[in-house]
Amino acid sequence: MTDLHQPVTALAGVGSHTANRLANLGIYIIQDLLFHLPSRYEDKTQVYRIGALQGGMTALIRGKVEFTDVLLKGRRSLICRISDGTGFLDLKFFHFSASQQNTLRPGVFISCFAEVRHGYAGLEMVHPEYALIASMESPVAEACLTPVYPLTEGLNQSVLRKVIKQALILCSTRPELLPDWIPSAILQNYHYPDLITAIQTLHNPDDSVSVEALQQGDVPALKRLAFEELLAHHLVLRVARDKSNAWQAPVFAGDPALIKQFLQSLPFILTGAQQRVIADISQDFHKGNPMMRLVQGYVGSGKTIVAAYAALLALAAGYQVAVMAPTELLAEQHFKNFSAWFSLFDINVVFLTGQLKGTARQQVLQQLQDNTANVIVGTHALFQYSVNFARLGLVIIDEQHRFGVHQRLALREKGQQGTMRPHQLVMTATPIPRTLAMLQYSDLDISIIDELPPGRTPIVTVVISAQRRDEVIERINNWVDHQRQVYWVCTLIDESDALQAEAAEITAQRLALLLPKVRVGLLHGRMKTSDKNAVMEAFKSHQLDLLVATTVIEVGVDVPNASLMVIENPERLGLSQLHQLRGRVGRGTNDSYCVLMYHAPLSDTARLRLGILRDSHDGFVIAEKDLQLRGPGEVMGVRQTGAIQFKVADLRRDADLLDTIQHVGAQLFKQAPHAIQPLCDRWLGVSTDYSEV
Ligand code: ADP
Ligand code: MG
Repeated sequence: MTDLHQPVTALAGVGSHTANRLANLGIYIIQDLLFHLPSRYEDKTQVYRIGALQGGMTALIRGKVEFTDVLLKGRRSLICRISDGTGFLDLKFFHFSASQQNTLRPGVFISCFAEVRHGYAGLEMVHPEYALIASMESPVAEACLTPVYPLTEGLNQSVLRKVIKQALILCSTRPELLPDWIPSAILQNYHYPDLITAIQTLHNPDDSVSVEALQQGDVPALKRLAFEELLAHHLVLRVARDKSNAWQAPVFAGDPALIKQFLQSLPFILTGAQQRVIADISQDFHKGNPMMRLVQGYVGSGKTIVAAYAALLALAAGYQVAVMAPTELLAEQHFKNFSAWFSLFDINVVFLTGQLKGTARQQVLQQLQDNTANVIVGTHALFQYSVNFARLGLVIIDEQHRFGVHQRLALREKGQQGTMRPHQLVMTATPIPRTLAMLQYSDLDISIIDELPPGRTPIVTVVISAQRRDEVIERINNWVDHQRQVYWVCTLIDESDALQAEAAEITAQRLALLLPKVRVGLLHGRMKTSDKNAVMEAFKSHQLDLLVATTVIEVGVDVPNASLMVIENPERLGLSQLHQLRGRVGRGTNDSYCVLMYHAPLSDTARLRLGILRDSHDGFVIAEKDLQLRGPGEVMGVRQTGAIQFKVADLRRDADLLDTIQHVGAQLFKQAPHAIQPLCDRWLGVSTDYSEV
């Protein structure tokens, strides 16, 4: 007997040809058909009188053909005028056959369905769906709304409808094939239909739902499926978290003398927030299970030193530490900082990126293997190559939003020794609204550094039009006269490195011409690492006054004397990204400014968004507002590898569901633990056991 996990070819009339087409839609097994939901619906449930039609309506009508003619004027077309006693309407065909012309002869009755438009001669329908009928009284209306499915080349609606119908019949005659894993008490609580009812409703909506509600996704049936899908994504991470709680990890008790020496060597005192987060981490290190902690901190709040402190605890216990950064620039900066901070102690810090080759690479790998390298700093190359650690105790991932969820989960296996796993510390300056964090970070404990080091003056942000470019350039002159430094950030919609680099190069040349007294440097992603480093060094040591850069400086760059930033075309970037960029200034005690120089005209939304940035410095507030204005895809970053793909849910439409998901997830662990794995499998496929990747 058929079950829903059989390939679609088990259905009548589905051969390998159709199966291949279905595969293009991500449909492999019969169950996939049930979850292939209509993208819209056609309403053929009532027949309209022609006299009642208005332009823009999509309607089903009946009529008698008055005449049919081929027009040769303009584009050759077949015109067929029909009337129903209340008015007339022209059917228009640009592609037609002789037999069609013959069928649509005067006196026959037809029904038509299409959008109604105003044409030269009155109302018209272009290329309508039509069928011959016996009389004006023939029943033509459908009992329910007609689903319209997303298609792929070589597959039409009627084939897809027939195939889906078979799957629907199968699951309504044998409901046990599609278990509803959500307990009915929970369903009732949220007024959700059961699974099969929900699926039937969406494929064959009855009169209980209006076409408008369906189109807006505002029906319990759809909400229920979106809810289940979001819940499944949340559960996967929760399961990963429970698994890691069951693993063991080394205990790092810390060495008070060492810590004291380290803290005394710093040119500042840790802020209260930094100390609080360090306390969280130290506690995690005592438990004997792997720490899985996310540190979210304001830009410039001093996350790096917190990471170094954590590293020191691992090092004191004789373990190795890996520090991963998303860009070479940032990795290089961390390498320098960690080397300097740990130079007091007998700690060997090494550096590894994809650019390191040959014997130099071999040497690094060897040192890791024989435990003579204690800290390794690098890009994702750290984990891409056959890097073997002798005793990895802690993995630190900086600016994690640049890496994907999946990458993060996969990394957990690195450095595994028997049942022992390394601790993981994940850091980000991109605040994720609390609701979204449930989908992205529910496998992690979260600490927040919500305090900036003392003495920082808030950044004044101004929004001005590029027409005032000259004034801005004059201001740079002034700034440089006062021995201060400036960033100029070039943005492009096209994210290709080559184009970005070119735009920055041209801008740097122009600014150098306009500002003869100013020492101008250039930084972009296409430069060689050694050149990038040389430019960064020169800027840091104030041999350059103005650094023209692409968004490569978004993360990590730290030059306290640079206190003015000009961002060109800020309207092209997400608010969180702009907030990150802006965080490059305001790191010293100088007054700091960020000039958002837009290109007029600015859309209303863009104006609103830049206004939010001007008025707020709280990354969380900014992220929440951006979420409302642009939707979660943008907030989480479209460039992010880990952006989650959904089958049914649409975070913009379904954001209201996120609030209940954590709650229901917790309920499920108590009331129906057996349901969790099947739910994850249903929505994320059977290979969702990331913790074992
Ligand atoms: P982020 O959180 O953005 O990664 P960083 O770790 O780069 O911030 O720190 C930003 C700057 O603040 C660095 O120059 C760092 O040395 C400095 N800093 C960190 N903690 C403190 C502190 N408690 N007091 C003063 N300056 C600090
Ligand atoms: Mg940082």
